Amino acid sequence: MARCVILLADGLRPDAVTPSDTPSLHALAHDYTRAAHAATVRPSTTVAAIGSLATGVGPASHRLMEPGVGALRRLANLRPVARELARRGLPTVVVAGHVPANEVPTASALAKFAGVSRFVAVRGTARLIAASALRRLRFTPHGLVMVYVNDCDRAGHAEGWMSPAYLRAVREVDAAVAVLRATVADSLLVVLADHGGGGIAPTDHDAPHPDNDRIPLIVAGPRVRRRYTLQRVGSLLDVPPTLLWWLGVEVPHEYEGRVLHEALVAAESEEAVA
Ligand SMILES: [Zn+2]
Repeated sequence: MARCVILLADGLRPDAVTPSDTPSLHALAHDYTRAAHAATVRPSTTVAAIGSLATGVGPASHRLMEPGVGALRRLANLRPVARELARRGLPTVVVAGHVPANEVPTASALAKFAGVSRFVAVRGTARLIAASALRRLRFTPHGLVMVYVNDCDRAGHAEGWMSPAYLRAVREVDAAVAVLRATVADSLLVVLADHGGGGIAPTDHDAPHPDNDRIPLIVAGPRVRRRYTLQRVGSLLDVPPTLLWWLGVEVPHEYEGRVLHEALVAAESEEAVA
């Protein structure tokens, strides 16, 4: 039994991860495995990307582009990560910041239908949401805890990606990483974004453009390679199979990403060392 923690930082560009603005994230990436290049799905929108993280398949397959009854019907034909975990007795907890109050019931219902055990909407900045997640982790020793913060996305839409306001939000997200860093002792910790931003339109991220497509992807924790850079292009779609594999759950053959085996150290070799 084991636990995985995902920090999904909405709109965080990989080139915003620097030793000065994001010392915690930079250190985590340096100490464990990071992808030199990683990309999200297309369209590079939050709903499409979260749909892919939740189901292991790309937007062309999940077509979860807007919440509603149609989404429920499509989810029934997919194999969401949370449902695969639930079948093995592993809970999934979602701690989400800044979900508009009128969207909480829909988001919560969709999450439950996808197999999520608990959906918690928290108000506050990234570090407060991370602190709230950390408290819940004490009661979630096994399974998946997904933490969603959107400080960077909101600042990017308001004042532009890489603007001073955006970089302030980036530093706030780094404070959330500092809070969650403690989990690497006994959990797989994955930090990534759903998309970048500022490609083509300075305050948007939907159009196909490298600045919109590129995302940070950092994997840390026990059985993760230290000080390693993945050279092959990583994808947001690689996260669902990698976390299932790490948790010892069979990866559905429908999943479109691949297990990041290069980032992981085989359990047997670790035992052999011990
Ligand atoms: Zn956005």
